[in-house]
Amino acid sequence: MLNFNFYNPTEIFFGEGQISQVANAIPNNAKVLVVYGGGSIHKNGIYDQVSDALSGFSWEEFAGIEPNPTYQTCMQAVAKIKAEGFNFILAVGGGSVIDGSKFIAAAAEFSGEPWDILSKGGEVESALPIGVVLTLPATGSESNSFSVVSNSETQDKLPFASAYVQPKFAVLDPHVMKTLPQRQLTNGVVDAFVHTMEQYLTYPVDAKVQDRFAEGLLMTLMEEGPKLLSDEVDYKVRANVMWSATMALNGLIGAGVPQDWSTHMIGHEITAVYGLDHAQTLAVILPRMMFAQQESKRAKLLQYAERVLGLDISDEEQAIASAIELTEQFFHCVNMKTRLSDYGVGEEAVEVITSQLERHGMTALGEQQAVTLDKSRQIIAASL
Ligand code: NAP
Ligand code: FE
Repeated sequence: MLNFNFYNPTEIFFGEGQISQVANAIPNNAKVLVVYGGGSIHKNGIYDQVSDALSGFSWEEFAGIEPNPTYQTCMQAVAKIKAEGFNFILAVGGGSVIDGSKFIAAAAEFSGEPWDILSKGGEVESALPIGVVLTLPATGSESNSFSVVSNSETQDKLPFASAYVQPKFAVLDPHVMKTLPQRQLTNGVVDAFVHTMEQYLTYPVDAKVQDRFAEGLLMTLMEEGPKLLSDEVDYKVRANVMWSATMALNGLIGAGVPQDWSTHMIGHEITAVYGLDHAQTLAVILPRMMFAQQESKRAKLLQYAERVLGLDISDEEQAIASAIELTEQFFHCVNMKTRLSDYGVGEEAVEVITSQLERHGMTALGEQQAVTLDKSRQIIAASL
């Protein structure tokens, strides 16, 4: 096992009726800016629950954070914060609203040009405190320190990380999932699955606890994910998927193990140029990434085949081929497409995405830096 520091200070309020806890979790003297997206929270009652919880507070709202939050929209919220002096952000939404809120929280206190946080690794030295009411289990953003923000003018979609933007608390009420459209349920299951794979399918360091936690998450997502799409979904299914998505990227399974993230980095470029949903890009790339990396990831692919998929691994070549095939079948099983051409993206994407990766310095991806630009080009070509 590698050395690690593990510290996750986000307090989780999980379960039915927990949105009311917001009232206890926000400091009494806070002046709160509620940040949300395109308005789904007005239709499903979450806005009303949040405003009830905030009845004793001074608060206002900033709406309109778009899926794949943009720098441009976030900066409008920063201007409002600077003009009106808010000192707490309550993000009510999915990964986009949370990631946008993290950037807003950091940008509001940043002394230079905030875009540098994303483009030049500008160091975040403070940020406004953030709380979260999660409405879409997928990204894990509700209890981690990562954020991904896009620039609508330059086709950049770039990540940053800072302990200062880690949410102070997150409310996870599985009932919020009732109004999620099938596409977003699918996205959530696939994103959480690929987060787990990015931290599990790496070279082995004998981290038995992390491996078995990761395997538990993969098995839960494969078992419960398809049930989410049926007509009769119960609370237990939603609760298990919701908690899996949080656990997949809250630092626990990634502590003390190598981490890959090459599928995500290529995926971000595809979203930036072609507008596919985040998880759609992951389902397109991951099977081809597994295939291209099968030699360097051999030990873990076999472990995955045996322990997660229950395959006989005596014929190693066959087991690895089946593991990749079953992974892609799982995506199909939750109604996720796995080819760029399914989204009308053609051959020109190979060079377009490769040059985006080059422009962003993504020339040696993965835990072994083995995904060179040439490898990425091959993987994208194989994903058509
Ligand atoms: P999202 O972009 O936050 O939301 C997608 C759509 O779902 C929005 O239109 C939203 O509508 C709608 N929605 C959300 N909750 C709903 C509900 N309860 N009922 C009905 N509709 C609802 O999706 P996401 O997958 O959670 O986030 C994706 C973003 O997170 C991407 O930018 C991705 O790169 C990033 N990401 C971040 C991390 C991280 O660790 N920080 C990890 C992976 C990915 P409204 O706008 O109306 O709310
Ligand atoms: Fe993701």
